Amino acid sequence: MKVSAKNTLLSCEHASHRIPAAHRYLFRNASDVLASHRGWDPGALECATRLSKKLNLPLLKGSCSRLLIDLNRSLHHRQVFSDYTRLLPKAVRQTIIEDIYLPYRDQLRQTIAANITKRGFVLHLSIHSFAPVLNGSLRDADIGLLYDPHRTHEKNIAARLQLHLITLDPTLKIRRNYPYRGVADGATTQCRREFSGRVYAGVEIEINQKYPLGGDHNRWRQLQDHIILAVNNIFQTT
Ligand SMILES: [Zn+2]
Repeated sequence: MKVSAKNTLLSCEHASHRIPAAHRYLFRNASDVLASHRGWDPGALECATRLSKKLNLPLLKGSCSRLLIDLNRSLHHRQVFSDYTRLLPKAVRQTIIEDIYLPYRDQLRQTIAANITKRGFVLHLSIHSFAPVLNGSLRDADIGLLYDPHRTHEKNIAARLQLHLITLDPTLKIRRNYPYRGVADGATTQCRREFSGRVYAGVEIEINQKYPLGGDHNRWRQLQDHIILAVNNIFQTT
């Protein structure tokens, strides 16, 4: 298994807090919630875009808020629809699924499948960010790396990413399978059901939103640079 820029792809499910015009009536007076961490992952798209440009990696990004439909949840998951959309008539929810959810998931699946056919292996890096404080508790990490501990390639890639990041900045706190478990419901978990650990590795990079939202632009840029360097190092060492 050789990982390179040629068999790696990026995704960013929570890239945007946009609501398509047809559904905006559901979000009147909700602009604050949409702009908060509940509506999207601040900073995730910026980092994913820089990774994509610097390392020449394809990037698939969500185009609307998770409060309309969450691209990082399975269709059977209760939170695939939010408090704003869960009680909509079934036909309206079905339209949202067909217009927004399925095209994204199908494209992700097809891109991975095509790469596996062509290269024999795919590394899928899904870029997210997490709120520094949730329900009153402080989340004690700068970056979380989420993966399935039973998948050897994912485990190795996460360990290498962690090592590279710590080498670049020993003050960083990098935690594995934190603040969520890698096997919890999500796009990578769903992909694992379809693609074996022999041909697919899905790792989520979760960035603490205190960096993009903290006001220290240089520190945020530096963290992104370190993530780019760490991913580039994976290509050179695996
Ligand atoms: Zn996210």
